[in-house]
Amino acid sequence: MAKELKNAHAFLVLEQSQTFSNEYAYRLASEILCTEEDENKRPCGKCASCRMAENKTHPDILVFGRAKVSVDDVREMIRQAYLAPNSGDKKVFVLEGIDKFNAQSQNAMLKILEEPPKGVYFVLTGANKNAVLPTVLSRTFAVLPKERDADENFEKYLSGDETKESKEILKQYIETYPDAKAEEFPTESVLKAYALANDFYGGEKRNAVSEFPRSREEAAIYFRAFMLFSRNIFVYKLTNGKIPENESAEFKKICAKTSARSAAAYYEIFETAYLNNDSFANINALYAYLSEQI
Ligand SMILES: [Zn+2]
Repeated sequence: MAKELKNAHAFLVLEQSQTFSNEYAYRLASEILCTEEDENKRPCGKCASCRMAENKTHPDILVFGRAKVSVDDVREMIRQAYLAPNSGDKKVFVLEGIDKFNAQSQNAMLKILEEPPKGVYFVLTGANKNAVLPTVLSRTFAVLPKERDADENFEKYLSGDETKESKEILKQYIETYPDAKAEEFPTESVLKAYALANDFYGGEKRNAVSEFPRSREEAAIYFRAFMLFSRNIFVYKLTNGKIPENESAEFKKICAKTSARSAAAYYEIFETAYLNNDSFANINALYAYLSEQI
């Protein structure tokens, strides 16, 4: 489990289908409020909190955004956020369709997203990343279950020796990162990095960082592969095993012992390493930071 969860109180689920993202949002809200002791089993579906969530009657899951949201609605939500939860010690605000909130309404939320009252969580959903203010994006953990379709020429980057499974990993990798330069698509490194991520999350190689490559360019591939793996766990947990499809039995086992929220925290750590790759004096400083975080 990561030591510090930077933005673990605010999530953003970006999905083309609003129905899907609302479903994720509910599951995440249920996980946050679930009272099952083993965090990896949350949402357990059995405790009183989970049952209320399932019936959509949980008094501490507050949904906003179904109707048109005005800045006054946002202020009302903020007022409610400062009231004590009804049943436990946490409450979750689900803000559906944040991409439809106007700039003024999104702006009104910045402060509370940055520093919410104790025990208050936000799960935002939306379809269009471009309609979400960058300041909102930077204050939330954004998960994008599917960002784009793989390059139609994807197949040409394959050597032909790939197994069905590794083909799928490569496809996901290239799909998730729009900046992946297909011409220099490093298939071999991606697969190696993904396999290492598998061992890391499986608990066999907790010191995976010691096996990270020594060049910054190659390191970026590893960060991205680890981000992909974390994201896959997160999405798998939140869709109750529906997505990604065709994952191995080993992957399912890993998911059974990881919570969606810790997967999100790891995603953030590797994303930070990826985005700040250049700001560290050298690769040793970067890996020292990473080892400290995980
Ligand atoms: Zn539960």
